[in-house]
Amino acid sequence: MIGPLLAIFPHPDDETFSTAGVMAAAVERGVPVTVISATRGEAGESSIPDLDDPERLGVVRERELRDAMQQLGVTDVRFLTYRDSGMEGSPEAQHPKALVRAPVEAVATKLVTHIRAVRPQVIITYGQDGIYGHPDHLHLHYAALQAVVSAADPAYNGRATSESWQSARLYFATAPREDLLAMLERPNSPLQSLSPAALANLGTPHADITHVIDIGPWAEKKRAAIAAHYTQTGEGGPLADMPQEVVERRLAREFFVRAPLPWSSPETPADGELDIIAALAGERHPH
Ligand SMILES: [Zn+2]
Repeated sequence: MIGPLLAIFPHPDDETFSTAGVMAAAVERGVPVTVISATRGEAGESSIPDLDDPERLGVVRERELRDAMQQLGVTDVRFLTYRDSGMEGSPEAQHPKALVRAPVEAVATKLVTHIRAVRPQVIITYGQDGIYGHPDHLHLHYAALQAVVSAADPAYNGRATSESWQSARLYFATAPREDLLAMLERPNSPLQSLSPAALANLGTPHADITHVIDIGPWAEKKRAAIAAHYTQTGEGGPLADMPQEVVERRLAREFFVRAPLPWSSPETPADGELDIIAALAGERHPH
């Protein structure tokens, strides 16, 4: 039986763009799905002109995330108590509750509690690229990595008291570097404001992506989930002007890198029996 899936992401909408198709497919197969968002996306821009207060924006974006997940049939949505640190160099990073100000160890301890409660077979989070190097994406990557290992260690308690849990698989959600570089070439691309360091580390080269999932059958659910993040994707929002072909590409496929774990074995055909990503990677769907 395919085991539970836990998705760990920093801001509302990260989970939708990266893995909504996989989550919808999992729900359809009766696989329990849990989503953790470390922040409420307080520092983002908004399509709603009056919504310029970070705390109020966080309240709205929490609701948007819950609505988006409802489009996929996901009902277990959890938030950590951190605050969006904003893009590189943003003053929001100075806020006492900013995610980047919390020690990786402290964030990991909170995640361990959730991992031990959810007992997932598959965990999905961002990799070292953080797609485009957002400071929260990188910070949460390191915390999640540490949490997966600590959750499995019976000697680790921190403030996480429940029984240890070894997740079978860890995947990093990513996007092909080649696609992101093509986006960068476009006039007015939002990627053009990134630092040279971030640009050098965009996404993952195609050759290093281990699992490509055809999400065609769940594209309409993903489209509805994207639309539910209205402050971001609605008219006037920061993601409203995404070129149609970029949106269509996000609705066709999702990309993952399987990360080695201290206890992991090489992939076998039997993995599809417990691992939703391995199961879906072996399938092709008519469009
Ligand atoms: Zn994000």
